[in-house]
Amino acid sequence: METYDALLASITPSSGESRTIFNPATGTAVGQAPVHTVEDLERAVAAAQAAQPAWAALGHDARSAALLKAADAVERSAEELAHLLSREQGKPLNGPNARFEVGACAAWLRAAAGTPLEPETVVDDGETRAELHYRPIGVVGAIGPWNWPMMITIWQIAPALRMGNAVVVKPSEYTPLSVLALAKVLNEELPDGLLTVVSGGRDVGARLAEHPAIGKVMFTGSTATGKAIIKSSADTVKRLTLELGGNDAGIVLPDADPAAIAEGLFWGAFINTGQTCAALKRLYVHEDIYEAVCSELAAVAAAMPMGNGLDENNVLGPLQNRAQYDIVAELVDAARDSGARILLGGNPNPEQPGNFYPTTLVADIDNGNPLVAEEQFGPALPIIRYSTVDEAVAQANALDVGLGASVWSSNLDEARKVAARIQAGTVWINKHGAVDPRIPFGGAKQSGYGLEFGVEGLKALGVPQIING
Ligand code: NAD
Repeated sequence: METYDALLASITPSSGESRTIFNPATGTAVGQAPVHTVEDLERAVAAAQAAQPAWAALGHDARSAALLKAADAVERSAEELAHLLSREQGKPLNGPNARFEVGACAAWLRAAAGTPLEPETVVDDGETRAELHYRPIGVVGAIGPWNWPMMITIWQIAPALRMGNAVVVKPSEYTPLSVLALAKVLNEELPDGLLTVVSGGRDVGARLAEHPAIGKVMFTGSTATGKAIIKSSADTVKRLTLELGGNDAGIVLPDADPAAIAEGLFWGAFINTGQTCAALKRLYVHEDIYEAVCSELAAVAAAMPMGNGLDENNVLGPLQNRAQYDIVAELVDAARDSGARILLGGNPNPEQPGNFYPTTLVADIDNGNPLVAEEQFGPALPIIRYSTVDEAVAQANALDVGLGASVWSSNLDEARKVAARIQAGTVWINKHGAVDPRIPFGGAKQSGYGLEFGVEGLKALGVPQIING
C-alpha cells in the first residue's frame, strides 16, 4: 500500500535515537519509533503553552469545526491507520478490532465536537445571579496503554482540545507508532504545537505527571501506575482522570437463555482478544444452567478464527507483548494445576511464531483462584458456578476494582435490580463493554475516578468557574 508506506515514512525519525517495533503476530519489524527524552517533553510542553491561548480564544464553535475536520482526516486515512494498528498492536483488521478502532476515533471526535456545553445558571432569584462556566485548563497530559492505543488517545485528547486545551501525549512504549500516526493525521487540521506526541518511556511519563506547566493528566493504564501518578502529581495539585484496571464480573441469572446470550458473552470477554479494560473477566453462572452456558459458549468460541491480523478471515489476534502472554499462560496453568476443568484452549503451540495464546475457557474453578481474582487481560475466561444470586453478587463485589459488570437475564426488571447491587462504574444488561460516546464512563473503587464521554467528559477537561454577580 503506497499510502501506508507514506504514512509510516512520515513518522519515521530521520535523526536521534530510535528503536524497532515488532509485529506481535509474526515477530517481524513494523517500523522505527523515536526514543524521546525528558528534554523532548520540555520542548513539547513549551510549544503547547505557546499554542494554547490562541486555540482557547477561538471559542467552542471554531474548535468543534476543527475537530470535525480532524475526524474527516482520520476517515480519509482510515485504511492506512488500521493497517499500522494491526501490525503494531496485533489486532485483526476485521471484527471489532483495527478498523473498528479507527472508526471509533472518528466517532468520538465528532461526539466531542457536537456535544453542547452551555453555562449553567445556578441561582437567579432577583438578588443573586450565579453562573457556572468551564474554562480551559491550559496544557493537558495524556498517558495511555497499549491495548486500544488510538481510541483511548482520542478519548483523552478530543474533549481536551474541544475545551480549549493543548495536549502532550505519552503513548505506551509498546504501541508508539499507532499514536504517532494518529497524531500526524490529526495535525493536518490543528495548529502547530497544540498536539504533540512524546514517544518516551516511563521516565517521560513520570516527568509529565509532575510537570508544573501541566494542569491535568488523563491517564488510562494499570492501577499500580495510576497510584504512582497520584503521588507524582500531588505537589502541583494536578487534576486527574484515572481509568485503571478492572476485573469485570458477569452474572448469568437462572432464567437466561444460554443459546441466546452465548455470542454476547463471547465478545464481552474476548473483544480485542481479552485485552480490554472493561471486558468480562470472570463469569458467574447459576448452577441450573451452568453446563448449558458452558457448552453454548464453547461452541461460539471454538468457531472464532485467531491468527495474523492482516488476514481478513481472523477476528482474534495475538497478545500484544510477551509479558502479557506470560501472565495469561501462568494463570491458566495454575488454574489447571488446582483442578479446574479446561473446556477449550489452554494449549498454546510452542512452535507457532508470535504471541498467540488460544481462546481458553476454564470451568469448575473456585472464586479465590488467581485466574478469577487477578486481571488476566487476555483470552482466558474463568466460569464460576453459583447457587444463589446473593452469593454471586457478593463474589462480584469482593474485589477492590469495579470498572464494569454485567447481568444476563430474560427478565429486564430482575436484571436491573441485581445491577443496582453491583459495585461498578457501569453495569450492562445482556451485553458487556458497550461503550458509547454519549454515555459517561468511569470506574468505581480502585478502577479509578473521573468520568469520560458525554457532557460530563467535557466538564472534566475544564476548570469550573462561578461568575457571581
Ligand atoms: P501501564 O500502567 O503499564 O502503562 C500505561 C502508561 O503509563 C504507559 O504509557 C507507561 O509508559 C506509563 N507509565 C508507566 N509508569 C509510569 C509512571 N510512573 N508515571 C507516569 N506514567 C507511567 O498499563 P498498560 O499495561 O499499558 O495497560 C494495561 C492496563 O490498563 C490494564 O490494567 C487495563 O485494565 C488498564 N486499562 C484501563 C482502561 C480504562 O478505561 N479503565 C482502558 C485500557 C486499559
